[in-house]
Amino acid sequence: MRQSLIMGHWNMNGSREEGLKLATSLAEGLGSVQQEVAVCVPFVYLSDVLDALKGSSIALGAQNVADQASGAYTGEVSAAMLVDCGCKYALVGHSERRSYYGDTNQSVASRFCQALKQNIIPVLCVGETLEEREQNKTFKVIDEQLDAVIEAAGIESFEKAVIAYEPVWAIGTGKTASDEQAQEVHQYIRQRIAERSPAIAEKVQILYGGSVKPDNAKALFAMPDIDGGLVGGASLDAKGFLQICHSV
Ligand code: PEP
Repeated sequence: MRQSLIMGHWNMNGSREEGLKLATSLAEGLGSVQQEVAVCVPFVYLSDVLDALKGSSIALGAQNVADQASGAYTGEVSAAMLVDCGCKYALVGHSERRSYYGDTNQSVASRFCQALKQNIIPVLCVGETLEEREQNKTFKVIDEQLDAVIEAAGIESFEKAVIAYEPVWAIGTGKTASDEQAQEVHQYIRQRIAERSPAIAEKVQILYGGSVKPDNAKALFAMPDIDGGLVGGASLDAKGFLQICHSV
């Protein structure tokens, strides 16, 4: 049985004060749950949010990590620095990093490896654009995104990693993939991992992301290969996000 994971992702939203208020409400409101809950917050607020989450079971994550260990890489934040700030997770290859900031399958694989070297759990984001879906290229895109990481890090790396399927057309659009559409891709991803290691495929958590809301979370999380969610917009509201956390 895989443990569920619900991960909030604040994106580039809110002030320090708003972030602290949100983290405090989550820490106070979550209660005792079986599933793991985490929040991925902007780098500059990591330490403050860590303090606000103290005493709760909510883990901390970053929204990206450098593809190099250290050195002259202005503006980047290394995996070792994330460890210093108390992070357990780091997103890698979010579609916005891929489309606006030039992340490639290879640079995403390097970020993934850097996270693992410091025992940060990378959350590998994969997913197709609307155009790719309409051209029946969804599985090809997923294959390329997964294969680059498997080649660089090895299949065993997925013992200590999470995968998030985020169809680009569903992120921030209010247009959620149907339960069946999401399940179909999650099952495909698990089967691709199983071709290399059935044991790892059975264990790896695959999250769904893309307009998860309190009213659609339960049905999505009930699908056999969906192990939780990566929640953007809806994680900015403590009440709604807690509802999503309790939808597992
Ligand atoms: C995201 O930003 O990764 C995301 C899934 O956002 P939303 O939940 O708002 O679609």
